[in-house]
Amino acid sequence: MQALIQIQKLRKSYGAVEVLHDIDLDIRSGEVVVVVGPSGSGKSTLIRCINLLEEYQGGVVLVDGLKVEKGPELAKVRAEVGMVFQSFNLFPHLSTLENVALGPLRVRKSNRKDAEAKARELLVKVGMAEHAHKYPAQLSGGQQQRVAIARALAMEPKVILFDEPTSALDPEMVGEVLDVMQNLAKTGVTMVIVTHEMGFARRVADRVIFMEAGRIVEQGEPQQFFNTPQEARTQAFLKAIL
Ligand code: ADP
Ligand code: MG
Repeated sequence: MQALIQIQKLRKSYGAVEVLHDIDLDIRSGEVVVVVGPSGSGKSTLIRCINLLEEYQGGVVLVDGLKVEKGPELAKVRAEVGMVFQSFNLFPHLSTLENVALGPLRVRKSNRKDAEAKARELLVKVGMAEHAHKYPAQLSGGQQQRVAIARALAMEPKVILFDEPTSALDPEMVGEVLDVMQNLAKTGVTMVIVTHEMGFARRVADRVIFMEAGRIVEQGEPQQFFNTPQEARTQAFLKAIL
């Protein structure tokens, strides 16, 4: 079966500086992939190329067989690729419920009743049902991020990309967000997660990818990756953070 995400010979530059060099990566449907690596290694840039938040200069990215490029198909691709950011990015003037219902209303053209019923279901799933009427400013960071996850899920995307979803949170709120993500992983949603939470990676990932300086240096199942990393650079990275 063809991989859900196919990345071949991906090259990305900012100006004259190339920051991703010939990345090859296939992610199958249902897979949970955790991307780790030092700051500046290209983790964010890589996942942002999957929904064209960043344009790329070489190679190809396909999501479910559709090429990720500027043009008439881009909206279609973006509807299939959810994203959760470090900084939550909820709409401040919309309630929790409205934030979650908005995508289906606008993009999927659902009717309001269905969109709101679905949003309520998702808020139950992320433990935010009692906060449906509140605005983002009335919520803690962990609560906002759980709403952001519900909002991504509302579009029923084929894959959800997470870029350091817990890095902006106070430590006591990290667990509640990781718990939601762990439960999500069990439901078979395809997830690509950039994170520094190695315990989470060990528990939840099907595959861990280590990036450095714009390349994938090593990848493997968590057990193998953390216990017997093969590359000296991986070993040095793990030694520094664990
Ligand atoms: P990571 O997410 O692993 O910390 P990034 O993907 O953010 O790494 O960055 C990869 C490289 O690209 C770094 O050298 C960074 O400085 C550079 N970079 C990232 N965003 C931009 C940008 N908007 N303009 C110029 N350079 C950038
Ligand atoms: Mg980053």
